[in-house]
Amino acid sequence: MYDLTNVITKLNETFCVVLEKSEKACATLRANVNSEEEVQAFLLVFSDITKTNWIVHHNVPSSQRIVFHKAWLCHHSCKHKSIHQKTERNTGCSAALDIKIKLNTVNTRRSDKYLARSPPLCAVVRFKIEHNHNINTSSVLRLLRVSKETISIFELR
Ligand SMILES: [Zn+2]
Repeated sequence: MYDLTNVITKLNETFCVVLEKSEKACATLRANVNSEEEVQAFLLVFSDITKTNWIVHHNVPSSQRIVFHKAWLCHHSCKHKSIHQKTERNTGCSAALDIKIKLNTVNTRRSDKYLARSPPLCAVVRFKIEHNHNINTSSVLRLLRVSKETISIFELR
């Protein structure tokens, strides 16, 4: 469990994030994320701040008003692993992340005030806050699958 206010404050530095709503263990944010590349950047920053790691669950085909939509699961989820075999990595965690980019036109701005902002907050980011395992501990960090992008970010620092 992490501090949602702190997560939003840190994300806000790069992506102009605002909290649209939070109910039970789920939060919905709006963010200035406008392309697939920016979604990848958001995911890296989000993973870094929350000390979590995500695997792609599914791609949703784009529609008339949604230009991009993808969903992820915590890497401690059961995906790609035997559900019956709980291991250190597979805790059966159900934390999930979902990012959508809305089409920004004169028409869509009328029905969504976040699109009319400057800069526009085209992305709708929904995630489940609770994990069923410790986060931000050395054993978890050891299990994180480090991506090439993450390595290059650390090398830049
Ligand atoms: Zn988890």
